[in-house]
Amino acid sequence: MTYVASEDRYEGMIYNRCGRSGLKLPAISLGLWHNFGGIDTYENGRNMITRAFDLGITHFDLANNYGPPPGSAEETFGKILSRDLKAYRDEIVISSKAGYYMWPGPYGDWGSRKYLVSSLDQSLKRMGLDYVDIFYHHRMDPETPLEETMMALDHIVRSGKALYIGISNYSPEKTREAISILKDLGTPLLIHQPSYSMLDRWVENGLLDVLEENGVGSIAFTPLAQGLLTNKYLNGVPVDSRAASASVFLNEGNITPDVLRKIRALNQMAAARGQSLAQFALAWVLRGGRVTSALIGASKVSQIEDNVAALNHLDFSKEELDRIEAILKT
Ligand code: NDP
Repeated sequence: MTYVASEDRYEGMIYNRCGRSGLKLPAISLGLWHNFGGIDTYENGRNMITRAFDLGITHFDLANNYGPPPGSAEETFGKILSRDLKAYRDEIVISSKAGYYMWPGPYGDWGSRKYLVSSLDQSLKRMGLDYVDIFYHHRMDPETPLEETMMALDHIVRSGKALYIGISNYSPEKTREAISILKDLGTPLLIHQPSYSMLDRWVENGLLDVLEENGVGSIAFTPLAQGLLTNKYLNGVPVDSRAASASVFLNEGNITPDVLRKIRALNQMAAARGQSLAQFALAWVLRGGRVTSALIGASKVSQIEDNVAALNHLDFSKEELDRIEAILKT
């Protein structure tokens, strides 16, 4: 059946301005790193994307290598776009990236102009798009001059293949340099995409300050620590979980007694606020307004519904924040 978007889709979502740009992003965005590949069930992916859109999630995040196999998440998304979301293209912010290994030889990895421009062309083809809204350099390349990478991003915007540009996983120092080069080129940096969660707080050591000073937005990836900050692993490792899957990014070894102790204590705090642990963890990432959007992943529609409901209770008291710090430090 043809999908028709819910009429009240903009009623429950919060939209935050991305730095000092004209673009607003939903407080919760959906990433297609896992569960949208060629090996996954198409209908489940379709249901997650359309339900997300019905809940006001207007931003979908991809990369050239998402799958598996690499490239297949973009193909899946392209299919859903052309079959279900064509009429809504102008209501959606689509991002893709290049920076990790994508094809053999010297031109399919890192940060050369050669790689970035050809990879984006491939991504556009896979998704059936003329342009993406945001194109990211996925990680800093220590060998390519930063000027070349930034000039490639500037060129991509000027050639109409992306509306805005971002960087991901860059240190505070390299971010500052990138911002300055891009300013001189006349294409401002829109956004940085770093990892950030209660269990991974590197952005608090300088990066968020650099972004704030320069009016650059931020979108926090893996805000649920790939599922650790949810009720998923409180009592073992379910068979339908990322940790039990073939993913090389999360495995049973990550669920240490120390992590378990922390997430059980955090879960008790969440319950006292009437929230699931996932909602609590997302509200925490969004606290204080320094993060534009929390970029979640999901394997089921119900997880997206649970996560969006985090927006019903975003405030923390000073006592709660102190208690969280105490739990994380133990
Ligand atoms: P999360 O930390 O949000 O983890 C998502 C996983 O948590 C889901 O797959 C699911 O696990 C579980 N989960 C989500 N919601 C719930 C819930 N309410 N209850 C119980 N379990 C839940 O993020 P991801 O690691 O998936 O990353 C999100 C996005 O960030 C990616 O899709 C990608 O767009 C981006 N990213 C960017 C990177 C970069 O280098 N720029 C690197 C990594 C990610 P399960 O599958 O076990 O059910």
